Amino acid sequence: MKEYLSASTKPILICGPCSAESHQQVLQTAKDVKEAGVTWFRAGIWKPRTRPNSFEGIGEVGLQWLKEVQQTLSLKVCTEVAKPFHVEECLKAGINAVWIGARTCSNPFSVQEIAESLKGVDNLSVLIKNPTTPDIHLWLGAIERIEKAGIKDIVAVHRGFALENNSSYRQTPLWRIPIELQRLRRDIKIICDPSHIAGKREYVKEIALSAASIGFAGLMIETHNNPLQAKTDNNQQLFSKDLKEFLSSINFPNNKEVNSNELEAYRQEINDIDKNICNLLSERMNLSKQIAEIKIAKNMTVFQPNRWQEVMDSIISISKKQGLNEDFIEEIYNIIHQESIKTQENIVNKKEVMP
Ligand code: PEP
Ligand code: MN
Repeated sequence: MKEYLSASTKPILICGPCSAESHQQVLQTAKDVKEAGVTWFRAGIWKPRTRPNSFEGIGEVGLQWLKEVQQTLSLKVCTEVAKPFHVEECLKAGINAVWIGARTCSNPFSVQEIAESLKGVDNLSVLIKNPTTPDIHLWLGAIERIEKAGIKDIVAVHRGFALENNSSYRQTPLWRIPIELQRLRRDIKIICDPSHIAGKREYVKEIALSAASIGFAGLMIETHNNPLQAKTDNNQQLFSKDLKEFLSSINFPNNKEVNSNELEAYRQEINDIDKNICNLLSERMNLSKQIAEIKIAKNMTVFQPNRWQEVMDSIISISKKQGLNEDFIEEIYNIIHQESIKTQENIVNKKEVMP
């Protein structure tokens, strides 16, 4: 009987190099991965590179090395697929799982082609990384296309988003996106790939700790026997000999909902506060509608920069006194103001208001 990756009762851990480079590198890294107690091994065979003229993967010969890992070390193996040819080769080699990378997930044509090549396949797990842009619908769409092809075992992988300013990380985590995906698809497990978010070895741990404590179902971690010499992503791969210790420092809390009266009491209070927030927002929006009528009468523009600056200054000063994070309040108020502008602009231009 097939052992589903998503059926695992333990955290899903998938470790191995960014790319398969040589027989020795794959086998040595796989031994260390096994030593660390991990049961799934990853290695990219075909690599999507942003620029041409760089190492684009070892190609099909790497599948034979993965097969050897599978047979001699009893590890499950997985690699990235970006087109039907890759899927066919993986199926021939008996690979246990494939992942659709971030760049491929961004392209519905490519995902559809992969989905077609997966029709009728019942012994393969498919991991779907988030697209590079924070568009949850692209991610959901890719999951749905693979589901429609009949694949039963699907796991989503959060690997961060390519924004213009990613601060110290290579990619921005935007945790709210995988959290929203989980709300919409509670039936799908989501694991985190801290390596591609981090971009640097030194940051992998803090991201993995965040993911585990937030409640992700596992981790995909790039691990190499000699990362300093790696042909791809050399700055972010962990030394495979350090993997065991690394993993022992990550605590995955019990994911079950626990009945607790104390927790319930707090949650009830939160529910009441949320209700108040909604009531206040509704009152604020009604005032904003009345203001729209005055602006029409006085032939004023909807957007009043000085007034807006005054509102922002005052709210920031209040939030500082309350010990709230300024960026958070600024973000919320920008959204509220945007909605106010939209509502007033609709009134001024007598537009049908869409729900
Ligand atoms: C990878 O896992 O090596 C990879 C290329 O990932 P992503 O698609 O997330 O960039
Ligand atoms: Mn990589």
